[in-house]
Formats: sequence, structure tokens, C-alpha cells
Amino acid sequence: MFDTVLIANRGEIALRIQRACRGLGLRTVAVHSEADRDAVYVRQADQALCIGPASPSQSYLDPSALLFAAEVSGAQAVHPGYGFLSENAGFAQRVEDAGLVFIGPSAACIRTMGDKVAAKRAMRRAGVPCVPGPDEGLPSAPAEVLALAREVGFPVIVKAAGGGGGRGMRVVNEEGALLEAIALTREEARRAFGNAEVYIEKFLLHPRHVEIQVLADSHGHAIWLGSRDCSLQRRHQKVVEEAPAPGIDEALVAEVGERCAAACRQLGYSGVGTFEFLYEKGAFYFIEMNTRLQVEHTVTEMTTGIDIVQQQLRAARGEQLALTQADIGCQGHAIECRINAEDPDSFAPSPGRITGWHMPGGFGVRVDSHAGVGYRVPPYYDSMIAKLIVHGSSRADALDRMRLALDEMQVEGIATNVPLHRALMQDPGFAAGGVDIHHLERWLAQRSRT
Ligand code: ADP
Repeated sequence: MFDTVLIANRGEIALRIQRACRGLGLRTVAVHSEADRDAVYVRQADQALCIGPASPSQSYLDPSALLFAAEVSGAQAVHPGYGFLSENAGFAQRVEDAGLVFIGPSAACIRTMGDKVAAKRAMRRAGVPCVPGPDEGLPSAPAEVLALAREVGFPVIVKAAGGGGGRGMRVVNEEGALLEAIALTREEARRAFGNAEVYIEKFLLHPRHVEIQVLADSHGHAIWLGSRDCSLQRRHQKVVEEAPAPGIDEALVAEVGERCAAACRQLGYSGVGTFEFLYEKGAFYFIEMNTRLQVEHTVTEMTTGIDIVQQQLRAARGEQLALTQADIGCQGHAIECRINAEDPDSFAPSPGRITGWHMPGGFGVRVDSHAGVGYRVPPYYDSMIAKLIVHGSSRADALDRMRLALDEMQVEGIATNVPLHRALMQDPGFAAGGVDIHHLERWLAQRSRT
């Protein structure tokens, strides 16, 4: 049990976690870099500690600074948020070793899921559908490698077992290019991730990104909370997310959801997590599991009515899940737009002082943000300054609500991608639902031609 939580993160998610803690009567400790000392969640925390200069490597990514802050503040638990150290098994291990609660799954689970080959093997064992391809590293003999690739069928994608963040991947269209692509990816992986293991799988041409949110306790219970579609991406970064994933057979989603929950039980997974899939031609293919809270957890909160962060805190406190699968429904439709401080055309970051801040509101509208008038967006971190989330009785209703909310939203003093979102919400392709993961890039290319 714990009563004080150190929030090892910044920005909107630090505020989101702080709110969930307060809702459960927990004390919060905010840690911040010198650049974030004036943030609203720093002011509102029961205790605030500066852990270093602006540079992430000397503050939010410094395990020793975070553990020291936990020690001096008396926090008994650490919430890693997303990004930064949230999926770092070494950090989770150090938190555990210090006798504190890491608010997430065990370090061992994070380690397994962080190795894409090990993760795929575990998923296959649990009956979760995976992308065709061997769930083991590649052999060294060229003839064996070629035989494997032929069996999978070209195009294939070569992926680093230790890869992440969209790096360490190479698409290979024909046999002649395979061995060189493998050698390059191996070398890149050795340098970037300290792990040269690579594997291959079928490269899917027009998939959607569909994911399943799960929630598990430390007593062997696990449930799934419906689907999300996050296919609108630029450079592998999600831009718009929605729940549920439109146009997919509910029985199929339920079947995959059950497999995900079963996999959690089999792995001894506890807390929240997300199974990410590519979805193509009516079939799901597992690509990876995120062992943390995600940016887009909000759309699932809106459709299920469940406070996912509070559930995560409860699980970390050792409570049994009070919800069963039968309690989980999906009401209407929710959409989230990530509002970034960036030029809507060039995508160049636009840090600086916000001089005007008018947020939309009303029925079915939610804004998760730590920003406001006078807030200075620092240049050192991710450029997301707000999440605009709407909920409607249907997808069409949610889209209408999002269009109105974006019209109301005004941010002055810095550039934001609000104009991009306004244009996207008018795109007939997106409005129809079910676009693939290349849709946004195609749409942007089209826009720059006209
Ligand atoms: P990372 O951990 O780096 O995010 P993922 O395995 O999640 O890597 O893959 C990132 C993205 O790469 C996916 O969202 C998808 O766009 C693309 N991708 C990965 N595997 C495949 C595949 N087998 N076929 C097609 N696209 C893929």
C-alpha cells in the first residue's frame, strides 16, 4: 500500500496522473526540470522537487535523480507516465529494488515485451494472432535466411528485436536486396539498441493501426476495454485517435480482446497495457505491446466511462479488479486530436509564450492540458500541449462535435496544428472511417501538390 506518489513525468500527463491521485486521496510529489518549474501541476502538487536542468537526460531520464527525489520526499510509489522511462525495465527494476512500487507491470514483464521477438513468441503462445514470420532471430547462414524469407513471401520487413520508436526497420521487396538490408539493420540495431538481433515478418501493404486496451490486477484477473484506431499517423507518430475502431466486426474484436486478456493472465501482467495490431483484410496481426499508460487512453475512458488512470493506481496498490468483463460496454464514439506546438504545414516545432488560450467546452468535450495563457512551451520536450477529446452518440456525431470544438479552439503566441486538424476533420476519407496507416502521409503529399 502507498499514500504518496511521485510522478516521474511532465506536461499534460503529469497533470492527468495528479488528478487521478487526488481522486483517490493520494498525495502527489511533482518532480520537474528547471524548464518546468512554473507548471500548473508543480504548483498544485503536495510537494515539488527540482531534479535537474532542462535537458531530459539530466532530469526526466535520470533514474538516480528520480530515486533520490522519491527518497527525500518519502513517496512510496513512482508513476512513470508515458515516454521517458516508462518502458525502461532497468528503471522499473531499480524502483522495485529500492522497495518502492513501480506503477506498471513488473520489470520482468517490461523486459519481455521490450524484446520484440520474445514478445511475439509469448503472444503466439497465448493464442494472440501475429504477423506471419518466424518468432525467432534470423540464422546466420544466407541460404537459411533466404529460405525463411521465401516461406514468408515478399515483401518482408526486417526488424530489430530491440527496436522502438519507429527505428530499426527496413522493408525488402525482393530477394536480391534481403541480405544487405539484414546486415544494415543489424549494424544499426547494434549501435542504437545494443542488441544486434533482427527478425523478419511479412510486410503488410495497407494495414490499419488498431489496438486493444487491457487492465489487469496482481491477482490474476485481466479484462479488455475495447478497441482504438490510431491509423492517422505521420512518421509513425499518432495524430488522431478514436474509439472504437470503426467498421470492424464486434465478434472479431471480442475474440482478439479475450486473447489479449488471456495473454495478460498467462504473463502475470498487472496494471494497464495496450496490444497494438495491424489490421488488414479482416484480420488482426500483433506488432507490439505497450506496457504503460498511453496518450490515447482518454478515448477509451470516454466510451467505457472508466477512469483508466485510477484503475491503474488501484491495481498498483494491490487491489483486486472491481470490474468484470461483463461490466465493460462501449457507449457511442470518441475522437482525440493531439494539439502540438508546431507549424501546421512544415511541422517545425513552435516553442514560446502562449498569449491567448481559448479552449472549447460544452457537452461531450474534454481538454487535457497543462498549458494556458502565459505558459511558455519549452523547446526541450515533445511538442504536445493539449489533447482535445470529444464524445458523441455515434461516430458522425463525434466528428461534428470535433469540428465545432476545433472551430472554438484558439491558441495565440505560438503556432499549433489546430488548422491541420480542422482540415483533416473535413477530409471525406477520414470521415468515411477505416483509413490505412499511410492515409495521412498521402493526404499531406496531395495537399502540398495543390
Ligand atoms: P516501434 O516499436 O518502433 O513503434 P512497431 O513494431 O510498433 O515498431 O512498428 C511501427 C510501425 O511500423 C507500425 O505502426 C507500422 O506502421 C509499421 N510496421 C511494422 N511492422 C509492419 C509490418 N509487418 N507490415 C507493415 N507495416 C509494419
